[in-house]
Amino acid sequence: MSATAIPTASSVADAAERLQPEGRAFIDGQYVNALSGDTFDCVSPIDGTVITQIAACDTADVDRAVAGARAVFNSGVWSNAAPARRKSVLKKFAELMLENADELALLETIDMGKPISDSRKIDVPGAAKCINFYAEAIDKVSDEIAPTDPSAVAMVVREPLGVIGAVVPWNFPLMMASWKLGPALATGNSVVLKPAEQSSLTAIRIAQLAVDAGLPAGVRQVVPGMGETAGQAIGLHMDVDMVAFTGSTEVGKYFMKYSGESNLKRVSLECGGKTPHIILPDYPDLDKAAEAVAWGIFFNQGEVCNAGSRLLVHEDIRDDFIARVAKVAAGIQPGNPFDAKTKMGAMVDTTQMERVLGYIEAGKSEGASVAFGGNRVMAETGGCFIEPTIFSDVKNDMKIAQEEIFGPVLSAISFSDVEEAVEIANDTIYGLAGALWTRDVSTAHKVARQIKAGVVWVNCFDAGDITTPFGGFKQSGFGRDKSLHAMEKYTDLKLIWLQLD
Ligand code: NAP
Ligand code: MG
Repeated sequence: MSATAIPTASSVADAAERLQPEGRAFIDGQYVNALSGDTFDCVSPIDGTVITQIAACDTADVDRAVAGARAVFNSGVWSNAAPARRKSVLKKFAELMLENADELALLETIDMGKPISDSRKIDVPGAAKCINFYAEAIDKVSDEIAPTDPSAVAMVVREPLGVIGAVVPWNFPLMMASWKLGPALATGNSVVLKPAEQSSLTAIRIAQLAVDAGLPAGVRQVVPGMGETAGQAIGLHMDVDMVAFTGSTEVGKYFMKYSGESNLKRVSLECGGKTPHIILPDYPDLDKAAEAVAWGIFFNQGEVCNAGSRLLVHEDIRDDFIARVAKVAAGIQPGNPFDAKTKMGAMVDTTQMERVLGYIEAGKSEGASVAFGGNRVMAETGGCFIEPTIFSDVKNDMKIAQEEIFGPVLSAISFSDVEEAVEIANDTIYGLAGALWTRDVSTAHKVARQIKAGVVWVNCFDAGDITTPFGGFKQSGFGRDKSLHAMEKYTDLKLIWLQLD
């Protein structure tokens, strides 16, 4: 198949039959069962098919994975390998991901329900690009010599931390794992990864690809399982040096607690968001802005941490603008995820679908109006599909404006001037991202500075590149993924002071 061909399947069962997905843990270079022998069902949200069994790892498996990761770290075979060697292995790893892109895309789609064209065009190439970026960076970042008195040479060097626990969510399984693996492995660490229980398949599969690329056994372990068992065991482990977490703010707080109760391991948190998307009436192309607003919330079924879930629109253009967004939403209906033309897939599981439907009910009972959608659809397929939904007449203190829904639900709030827009934008516990549409360059500068968030987009939404940092302010967490800055959190600074006389 060509690089952009879309792999197809007639059903989840058909894809599973062809792919024979691996569900075991990956420890010290081998696929292994959990020591207890326990497994859990891997259920596809597309039609409820049980795809395979996944190893339910617990404390004993995490202990085993951490011990192997520590042993290989101490051996120096990866942690102390020449940068050029690490670079060539990781570049090969990225290459193997692309060679197996059709398989990985299909696995991602059956496991978490997103459209196959998204998996194929966004998730798999995005993950490979990320690994490749950090591979390339390895032999281009130098340490420092401090400008001290000439009687000494003071070298400021970066050293890998050791064993990293990576705990990731289900919305972009391969990509979120890669954002951790790229910089952590590039800087010489070993990684013990726990995927989300809803979406373990690609993390398990690429473990073998990494070893095939030459990554020494033990450097990249995978322990699938429940958050409350495997995830907690990583958080509390006395020999894990750092946890890189992406997920909800609630669970992020647990990891801070686990650190304090154990070895004060470093913690980096990429948590939730409630992104304000501000439309000022001077922006000349409101159709363009409406298109960005719709995709900004409905892409990936709304299961995006930085989704533009709060539309802040000037009162003068409110009704007209909401109508324009609804028109775009009408073209983003859920459909069969295996159809290359489908733009919206299934919610990740029935729990998440029920949660989102619960928020839609809450919006109605708090007095907001449904301007578009609001229902579960395609129930006859057995899948978890919800149509794009727009609420108007939302007040910022309503539940649907304050809590992260993590589904295709947009809450539209109106404002009368820029100051009020900024005030509403910042009236949230979150601070992951924000966006603003205006043609006034000084308003753009001022508002971008005033929004308390790790990313602010002006006249676009969700633009980014692997070269740019991503992460939050406030309760959206701390630490950054992507860009060269991500390498900082997987290393410690060491000063070596050499007295010359
Ligand atoms: P989640 O429930 O917080 O889970 C994230 C990970 O933590 C999963 O692997 C989960 O395992 C594990 N976990 C759950 N409870 C745990 C516990 N008590 N101790 C240790 N680990 C535990 O989040 P999610 O539902 O998978 O994903 C949605 C959330 O992720 C949203 O809030 C979203 O905003 C956030 N997110 C943030 C970013 C970002 O970059 N800022 C990116 C993507 C997603 P189980 O799967 O077994 O529960
Ligand atoms: Mg979860």
